[in-house]
Amino acid sequence: MPFNYSYWEQTAFVGYFDVVIIGSGIVGLNAALHLKTTQPQLRVLVLERGFLPSGASTKNAGFACFGTVSEQLALLKHATEDEMVQLVGYKYRGLKRLREKLGDDKIGYEEHGGYELFMDAEKNKAEECISQIDRLNRLLEPVVGESDIYSIADDRIAGFGFKGVSRMIYNKCEGQIHTGRMMRVLLAKVQGRGVLVLNNCAVDKIEPDGEWMNVATQQGNFKAGKVILATNAFAKQLFPNLAVTPGRGQVLVTKPIEGLKLCGTYHFDEGYYYFRNAYGRVLFGGGRNLDFGAEQTTEFGHTDAVKQKLFEYLEQVILPGQKFEIDYWWSGIMGFGDDIKPIIKQVEPRVYCAVRCNGMGIAMGTLVGEEVAELVLNS
Ligand SMILES: Cc1cc2nc3c(=O)[nH]c(=O)nc-3n(C[C@H](O)[C@H](O)[C@H](O)COP(=O)(O)OP(=O)(O)OC[C@H]3O[C@@H](n4cnc5c(N)ncnc54)[C@H](O)[C@@H]3O)c2cc1C
Repeated sequence: MPFNYSYWEQTAFVGYFDVVIIGSGIVGLNAALHLKTTQPQLRVLVLERGFLPSGASTKNAGFACFGTVSEQLALLKHATEDEMVQLVGYKYRGLKRLREKLGDDKIGYEEHGGYELFMDAEKNKAEECISQIDRLNRLLEPVVGESDIYSIADDRIAGFGFKGVSRMIYNKCEGQIHTGRMMRVLLAKVQGRGVLVLNNCAVDKIEPDGEWMNVATQQGNFKAGKVILATNAFAKQLFPNLAVTPGRGQVLVTKPIEGLKLCGTYHFDEGYYYFRNAYGRVLFGGGRNLDFGAEQTTEFGHTDAVKQKLFEYLEQVILPGQKFEIDYWWSGIMGFGDDIKPIIKQVEPRVYCAVRCNGMGIAMGTLVGEEVAELVLNS
């Protein structure tokens, strides 16, 4: 007995489960919640390798958003209008579902709108985006249920105190959440339904064992009727054929800033940079496009190039002439792919996956988790 598990432990914690979910991010937890809500008798186990969820779900920026004008136009370069509209609709429904399930007050949801900034050197780009506002509003109204989603907001640039910003587009439907609180309330709901969530338990291997799947971990083996892989950026570590490329996001939060003028979520450079107010502070992240190769990693950490660029933007564009100090730095890992849709499918007999939210998992994660749970229930 290498693990010295007692009879009590073996009959209450380890052993046989109908479904084992690998990964306790927003997708894995939503899959667990949906399984137990639909079929309460199922024995469901979530295995998480980190002490906390250790990917993207507790390390993101907390934007409740479905895309800026330039992001939608970038998408239209290789997708049809219908595909773009469907994706926005999916993200918007995902956000609504997240809010309904967990409650706006519990997840710190605030709707101050979102802004896309164009720098002085981006006048042509700004013109092109502004010329498409009416078209996008017309296309997106049926799935968002609001008219005039995007509008020009140049008159607010000075009020926010920005420097070097020439044009700005407002999205009145964008909000923000406290992503840590969101994950805590989700975890509490999952556990409240009777799902066992075990941390510090990395899965090394999954293989068939008679009528069961053997899920091998450093803490011992678990038997599963079915397995859901919800490991997002780390998916290839267990299934090398899955088309998921990791992308690291580096983020900072300042110390509280007196008289902070920012209020809302802000994006620039086609979404490669993003910032927001966060309880009197500024959260700012991005810069992956400075060196895609270096950021295509599953290793947490920082680079001097990104840190320096974020600092420069803060000093020169976002908070010019204001004193600020950085209080927190961290990084998180996203899962990307050429196809902007998540992968939700069966990968092997009795093994299913729900990965690759393409950096938009707050918006999509609830539905992605529910969809894979449905796939398991209906198989
Ligand atoms: C810096 C940053 C900013 C972002 N900002 C936003 C935003 O503003 N809005 C938005 O919509 N999205 C944002 N995202 C994206 C969003 O956070 C992700 O799309 C979403 O969290 C993905 O959820 P997930 O459950 O698929 O993956 P994850 O949250 O990464 O969960 C996967 C889990 O699997 C675990 N795991 C991996 N391998 C194993 C193993 N072998 N055994 C056991 N466990 C394992 C990991 O530890 C991890 O906890 C951001 C992401 C980052 C990194």
